[in-house]
Amino acid sequence: MLKKFTILIALASPFLLFNKASADISRGYPLKSSIWKYNDIPVCWENFGQSTSAEREWVRSAIHNSWEKHSQVSFHGWGQCQRSSSGIRISVEDKGPHVKKLGRYLDGYRNGMVLNFTYNNWGGDACKFNRQWCSEVIAVHEFGHALGFAHEQNRPDTPDSCKDAPQGTNGDILIGPWDKDSVMNYCNPRYNNHGQLSATDIKMVRQFYDLDPVVIFSQEAYAAFLGNKVTLDASRSYHPKGDNLDFLWDLGDGNVDSSSVPVYEHQYLSRGTYSVTLTASDGARRSGADTVTVNVYGVEVLIPALTLLLN
Ligand SMILES: [Zn+2]
Repeated sequence: MLKKFTILIALASPFLLFNKASADISRGYPLKSSIWKYNDIPVCWENFGQSTSAEREWVRSAIHNSWEKHSQVSFHGWGQCQRSSSGIRISVEDKGPHVKKLGRYLDGYRNGMVLNFTYNNWGGDACKFNRQWCSEVIAVHEFGHALGFAHEQNRPDTPDSCKDAPQGTNGDILIGPWDKDSVMNYCNPRYNNHGQLSATDIKMVRQFYDLDPVVIFSQEAYAAFLGNKVTLDASRSYHPKGDNLDFLWDLGDGNVDSSSVPVYEHQYLSRGTYSVTLTASDGARRSGADTVTVNVYGVEVLIPALTLLLN
């Protein structure tokens, strides 16, 4: 009995095909540990003077039209910082705009981001006479740092043609080629890419801040004998923010069923290879899905095993 069982497993293993979609990988230079654990990030102003209400609005709309427009990240609050305010705390000062830390290391950090609205001491005439433009494109860059993204020209694969020195904290994830067009790249001939996220800036922010539900099956493929039920187990699926999930099972044989649990038993009525897609939804606008193969086979696969046993 044990021997027969062993042979069956050996026969079944070629059916276990690798069928996982590869992860979408973007470019950029993020510092993984600095990525915020959530995607609605508080912002406040250390010096909330009425005289800067127009300038503060420039910043807010520049962020809305860049990072927020292209991903699920959102920045909320934008009022006067209190002593215990968390999130990004912006100080308006007439000096070089910067952040003191990357990403979530700014959480609650006093004067953690410095923005300039007047440009008397920094930025030269270019900014002094284009205050709105400078304030907007610089805010997009600094908020990139606040999301955990380091300077593109800090990457070790920066080409020799880029003469700007590395500056500030490095990232620690190096994926995809160097991106000349990034808003995070000093060597971009368009200053801060004029506040427009590059295609790869967009991929990067989506990769880290679009919090879709994640579907994970217990196996990369399933096998079952005709007449037996197969148990499809995706109980490791999760919502990044812990929200409840609803599941839609497309069993690949014309049957589609919804369920509140990520485990499903099904009996296929004929031999063949089926593609099962499970979609997890959070009841709002987000969903995630994965597909696995189910091989349903009949007694014919036993024949070589039986022949072996009989010999
Ligand atoms: Zn910078």
